[in-house]
Amino acid sequence: MDLDHCDLFVSGGGIAGLIAALAFAEAGASVVLADPAPPPSDPQKGDLRSTAYLQPARALLEEIGIWDQLAPGAVPLEVLEVIDCAGDPAEARTRRAFQSSDLGAPAFGWNLPNAETRLALARAAEAHPKIDLRFGTGFTALLARDREARITLSDGARIATRLALGADGRASPLRAAAGIEVDTTRYGQKALAFAVSHPEPHNAVSTELYLDGGAFVLVPLPDHQGQPASAVVWMNDGPEALRLQALPETEFNGAASARSTHVLGPLSLITPRQVWPVVTQTARALTARRVALIAEAAHVLPPIGAQGLNTSLMDLRFLLDLYKAAPVSLGTPAHLTAFSEKREREIAIRARTIDLYNRICRSDIVPVQTLRSLGLRIVHDIKPLRQSVMRAGLGG
Ligand SMILES: Cc1cc2nc3c(=O)[nH]c(=O)nc-3n(C[C@H](O)[C@H](O)[C@H](O)COP(=O)(O)OP(=O)(O)OC[C@H]3O[C@@H](n4cnc5c(N)ncnc54)[C@H](O)[C@@H]3O)c2cc1C
Repeated sequence: MDLDHCDLFVSGGGIAGLIAALAFAEAGASVVLADPAPPPSDPQKGDLRSTAYLQPARALLEEIGIWDQLAPGAVPLEVLEVIDCAGDPAEARTRRAFQSSDLGAPAFGWNLPNAETRLALARAAEAHPKIDLRFGTGFTALLARDREARITLSDGARIATRLALGADGRASPLRAAAGIEVDTTRYGQKALAFAVSHPEPHNAVSTELYLDGGAFVLVPLPDHQGQPASAVVWMNDGPEALRLQALPETEFNGAASARSTHVLGPLSLITPRQVWPVVTQTARALTARRVALIAEAAHVLPPIGAQGLNTSLMDLRFLLDLYKAAPVSLGTPAHLTAFSEKREREIAIRARTIDLYNRICRSDIVPVQTLRSLGLRIVHDIKPLRQSVMRAGLGG
């Protein structure tokens, strides 16, 4: 089979891989993207999660020309309400609202359903003259040389590229082929992801409720059949998450409403329930010869504080800006060293912070719970502290 050539090979057509392909193609690179999954088609059947895109992520979506298309379905998150709970049934103990206007920002982020975002990105990539999109074909082998990487795909096609980018998820085959290992922390926790409708309007408020087991997060969605709706991520000990997933719908609605302290009234499921394992996983290196890792191939974080994909897009931002500043350097040791020097420390700090935050949020130890409540009050009520924590959460 002939050898194809491209500037950038992207392994993985999830949201991160597709944004990477579009961003590099817009910057002038020729891109091949491969993913063994079929191309996304029906948004009702894909990933049920939604993602809150923080300001830097939105800027990237604007830069690749996709934001205007997504904007009508994006719900701004103007207020983040944190409720510390105790007891069974859960009762609110301390509640504090963080306002984006406090930082002079119109919103903390904009919430978009994953399946619809991925479909729009795949269509844009399909139409892009500099992207060769190969869904249904996976990465299988890597041969890295000083001047290029040779890639083999599952259909036998071979590609020579200046840089192979791993955006192929938490089990990244490209990462494995490059010989990069990972450090994984397991919490025995799982996250249930689903969407609900509710009688009370969400008023662009995202609500995070903490109780032992983990966080329960309600993120505003557009109305569903004339009713206010929210995406939910509900973290629990693994067996409890699986029990809840298997409950009959009416019982599940009752359990979810009680866990939400009825903050938006009774909740009614409008999607199936998906379960995701909760881990912190970081790659021991972000680069190898002619290889770079981004997104979940590089780091998986517990789903709190909307950090996962947003951190992934910061990886991409740095890699892209380095390429734009010196296109000839793509995939060279100088490019890859500059990328990993910038990102490794930031990712390590973010992973440690979210890990600690998750442990505190889910703790059933009474003194830790008391500290959690006190901490929330201190962080919120002291203005400079509140503003700096908000800035850090926004990627600062
Ligand atoms: C419950 C939950 C809620 C979340 N909420 C948020 C949020 O609000 N904000 C936020 O920023 N983040 C959030 N995250 C994190 C975010 O969803 C993930 O970071 C993101 O979806 C992962 O994207 P990805 O493109 O890295 O990986 P994936 O979506 O896993 O994509 C990887 C792709 O690689 C492909 N692949 C596999 N094998 C191969 C191969 N051999 N060759 C080529 N391709 C291959 C797969 O088919 C897949 O399409 C959440 C996570 C969870 C679990």
